[in-house]
Amino acid sequence: MSEKLNALKENRRGLMIVLSSPSGAGKTTLTRRLLAENENMTMSVSATTRAPRPGETDGKDYYFMSKTQFSDMVAKDDFLEHAKVFDNFYGTPRGPVETALENGGDVVFDIDWQGAQQLAEAAANDLVKIFILPPNMQELESRLRSRAQDSDTVIAKRMSKAETEISHWPEYDYVIVNEDVETAMSELRAIVAAERMQRRRQFWLSGFVKTLISGG
Ligand code: 5GP
Repeated sequence: MSEKLNALKENRRGLMIVLSSPSGAGKTTLTRRLLAENENMTMSVSATTRAPRPGETDGKDYYFMSKTQFSDMVAKDDFLEHAKVFDNFYGTPRGPVETALENGGDVVFDIDWQGAQQLAEAAANDLVKIFILPPNMQELESRLRSRAQDSDTVIAKRMSKAETEISHWPEYDYVIVNEDVETAMSELRAIVAAERMQRRRQFWLSGFVKTLISGG
């Protein structure tokens, strides 16, 4: 394809891609690979009032902040959505998302079904909701067991939380069953490619078609 056409095609509106799944379904791997393959795609970093866990970095895992800072942002309408989860507040900062979308950049959100619902209320037109399912519950449990030395009680709790999360699959636009990571990646690429082609996101087309018709 010509460089000229490629440059024109960059004039599109970005996507907000929500990836939800029960933990252990392989979402982290898929998300990392998708980001690595797409230059113009970033991860949304949420703000939270909870304390950082060991190994978490401010500005990368979350923007860690005080309750006062958080409520200041709420008052200024600086969040696309926010929620109280257990005893802490979480929110999606609006600025970085809007800037990315306007510049044709895609933003990926690693949030659960509640966050996805809230984002849908705030920005339905830009949103693509994808749900990742494990091939079976045994696989999910073994993935949970292999990655942490958690007690049986903790594993049982996670499994029950996974069932709740899975029950929300009908609220999503797309569902990928992640049995084989390569297949799941191709399916994910296909979804992103098709969503980018939606007419309403391709701003460049009206100018292009005008030139096309006038024989330019
Ligand atoms: P954690 O504290 O374990 O990192 O996250 C706890 C919960 O908060 C998870 O269910 C996660 O999906 C949710 N969460 C994280 N960031 C956001 C956000 O920006 N908005 C909403 N609504 N929930 C979030």
